[in-house]
Amino acid sequence: MLKKLKRVLFGGVEASHIGEPETNPSTVPRSQRTKKSAAATEAIPGNLPERLEELDLSTARIVPREEHCISRKQISPNALKALYRLNDAGFQAFLVGGGVRDLLLKSTPKDFDISTNATPEEVRQLFRNARIIGRRFKIVHLTFGREIIEVTTFRAHHNAENEFDDAAGDRHGIKGLDSAHSNSGMILRDNVYGSINEDALRRDFTINALYYTTNRFLVIDFTSGLEDLENGLIRMIGDPAIRFREDPVRLLRAIRFSAKLDFNIEQNTRLQIDQLAYLLESISPARLFDETIKLFVGGKAVSTFALLRQYKVASYLFPQTLEHTRDPAAPASRLLQLALENTDTRLAEGKSVTPAFLYAALLWPPLQAELARLSGDKPATIPALQEAANKVIMAQLNHTAIPKRFTAAMREIWELQLKLRPRNARSAESCMAHPRFRAAYDFLLLREEAGEELHGAGSWWTRLQLANPEQQQQMLQELGTRSSAKPRKRRRKRQEKKE
Ligand code: ATP
Ligand code: MG
Repeated sequence: MLKKLKRVLFGGVEASHIGEPETNPSTVPRSQRTKKSAAATEAIPGNLPERLEELDLSTARIVPREEHCISRKQISPNALKALYRLNDAGFQAFLVGGGVRDLLLKSTPKDFDISTNATPEEVRQLFRNARIIGRRFKIVHLTFGREIIEVTTFRAHHNAENEFDDAAGDRHGIKGLDSAHSNSGMILRDNVYGSINEDALRRDFTINALYYTTNRFLVIDFTSGLEDLENGLIRMIGDPAIRFREDPVRLLRAIRFSAKLDFNIEQNTRLQIDQLAYLLESISPARLFDETIKLFVGGKAVSTFALLRQYKVASYLFPQTLEHTRDPAAPASRLLQLALENTDTRLAEGKSVTPAFLYAALLWPPLQAELARLSGDKPATIPALQEAANKVIMAQLNHTAIPKRFTAAMREIWELQLKLRPRNARSAESCMAHPRFRAAYDFLLLREEAGEELHGAGSWWTRLQLANPEQQQQMLQELGTRSSAKPRKRRRKRQEKKE
């Protein structure tokens, strides 16, 4: 496995490229990193290309074109366009982050990120399709149709000079500051710019701090990221305790990358996760909603959730879910497991998944428990379900936000679970016409698969949808004759006559 990865990283010389080096400098063993890095730098023929000369690469490991597997063909043409435009305007610009990491691992990057010494305002002046976003961490989004390239300016280390109290609800004083921390070490403003060397050390994990330049197509590594990529390790740059405190979302990122890449988390980084998981309480619920969705839509929802449980992080995100899934064999726990498997399968097939469906499954176990408490031995009713849904959703909002459009859809998926027990033709037809029918039907099938006794409701709906119009009519008519609606109707008519 390691040998294979080494071949992937450093083997596979590809067809010639413009500006390739004439000699083959060797890569650098760890023990002689600094000395040999300088040697590698010297070995780039004709010295470093213009603009790279401006950089201090004395502590970097530089991998020339023929010793890594990244080809421009694999890079989004829009990202290349942005890199060239920034370079042409006299700025340094590099591909960084997941784009470089995933290409070195021979997988397809989710998106491409660029790091530059141009300030956000300078980037905006160069691109018509640029928008500056974020306050805590200003970045520029370049929009090319559906593709967004994220451009960030090199960040520098900044001392905790503007310190705000953790408990202070009112942080108006932050407005206009480029640098600010809370007194527990959380970074509240991170807009102090620096050099590429500083930028590398401000990134989260070593494997995310690899830079690729279209200037002679070099890969530049300041933090031993290439070695960690070879060894399959997620390692925090710097002191993990300090770096997790600076931004506790990095706890979730460590778990996300570990599941996504099937990498281990390096020991010192791992040891801090359990201990610092409580810091997630200081992250805004809105940011946590975005981050939880990323956890589940990376194609590895099952292993991600298992790691979230293992590292106790899940208890700060989904405490109700954990409480009601202690027995993995219970149908509600099985449903959640199946929904996560289903999410991974759908994404692998290129299908979409919605946050509403995911959250409907995550909160189904506590919803079921609350509904059972409210209903006792009687069958669940819509008002009881609504009451249970309110309670469970309100409790979840203390941990992660859920935008209203998604909570509305979740409630509909849940309510349709009661209505999808076909009683008569009219109610069956109105279910089918419901905009949330498809999601609710998928949910019903998962419940059935999870072992809930639904008296064949799922397969009845499957047959109905597969049937031709005549057969459908027949099935609906059969329902009609068993309908409980008719006697009710007659009773009402008699009352009308009396009046
Ligand atoms: P992917 O896009 O595949 O999810 P990524 O590594 O590209 O993974 P992004 O969220 O796109 O992740 O961020 C781009 C890069 O920005 C990261 O690789 C990392 O270097 C840096 N980064 C992102 N979030 C943080 C953070 N919270 N702390 C430090 N660096 C970060
Ligand atoms: Mg990315």
